[in-house]
Amino acid sequence: MKTYRIATIPGDGIGKEVIPAGQEVMQALAKACGTFAFEFENFGWGGDYYREHGVMMPADGLDALRNKDAILFGSAGDPHIPDHITLWGLRLKICQGFDQYANVRPTRILPGIDAPLKRCTPQDLDWIIVRENSEGEYSGVGGRVHQGHPIEAATDVSIMTRAGVERIMRYAFKLAQSRPRKLLTVVTKSNAQRHAMVMWDEIAVQISKEYPDVKWDKELVDAATARMVNRPATLDTIVATNLHADILSDLAAALAGSLGIAPTGNIDPERRYPSMFEPIHGSAFDIMGKGLANPVGTFWSVVMLLEHIGEPAAAQRLMQAVEAVTANPALHTGDLGGTARTVDVTSAVCKALV
Ligand code: ATP
Ligand code: MG
Repeated sequence: MKTYRIATIPGDGIGKEVIPAGQEVMQALAKACGTFAFEFENFGWGGDYYREHGVMMPADGLDALRNKDAILFGSAGDPHIPDHITLWGLRLKICQGFDQYANVRPTRILPGIDAPLKRCTPQDLDWIIVRENSEGEYSGVGGRVHQGHPIEAATDVSIMTRAGVERIMRYAFKLAQSRPRKLLTVVTKSNAQRHAMVMWDEIAVQISKEYPDVKWDKELVDAATARMVNRPATLDTIVATNLHADILSDLAAALAGSLGIAPTGNIDPERRYPSMFEPIHGSAFDIMGKGLANPVGTFWSVVMLLEHIGEPAAAQRLMQAVEAVTANPALHTGDLGGTARTVDVTSAVCKALV
């Protein structure tokens, strides 16, 4: 029987609640399938670790993760630590250290979810957003001078390399090709940003020639937000830069009903390193420790993890169990307008698996 080595990093806030829930569901799934097992190693990195050690994770942290089949991540963020420290010190360190250059974010309206677009049926909204996850606006390059003086100035330099854009574009075209509609929208801002974004457009044309069966179009990011709301059915696979896709995917999550449902994978498509799966929500300190967190975003992330490690049948089985649970409003957590608790949703999914 195959045993998958999974690293769990709950991180901060409700990450410490949803990741154990995810583990419980994974154990139940392994038991129900009977063909594979999980071996978990838990890493207590994040805000608490920072208070004790002055860093979010140890210097040799990546080495401890390197031999894992996948990583399940909760959330990094702490109201008492600046956001750029928690982000760069843990999540981005792993994404960049393992060159997880494709951030993949599926969005669908799950059964039973009351989503805000009333003119839209669940069939109209079935997207997968591909976010460039290694460079662009979040390269971390820039500087700040003359702090506190009238002439203070600061820059955040967006770096886009031909190799970086080509590889994410190729990933997006290939993903679009694998989906029934074979439809890709390439999002840019090449009217206003006239260097890197124009290169991005040119590379889209170039890579499209490798995928003649994929229908594709271009959209400016501002127009893309309106299109997501007004004409959701015209979109399927969407590729965008690090910053643009970050914003579009929060909009997508909200349109699908709640931030608490949405999953994501930080993927190294070349499989040189472990990929990392996580709910898109943050640490949500306002509800932390109360047992109120919606674990569905984590469960759906586990579905993506299973697809990635090569267990598509188990992934489908878990997704069906999750959808059976969301279909029942009595099992909705507060973010969905219900009164269910994390444990209620978790045990209902475990039950639906057997
Ligand atoms: P961070 O600073 O780490 O991004 P945050 O406190 O901003 O964390 P978000 O994840 O951005 O939290 O979520 C915003 C709000 O949405 C939270 O304060 C919380 O009330 C709600 N929320 C987010 N995720 C969930 C969830 N899984 N279950 C229930 N409510 C959630
Ligand atoms: Mg937030």
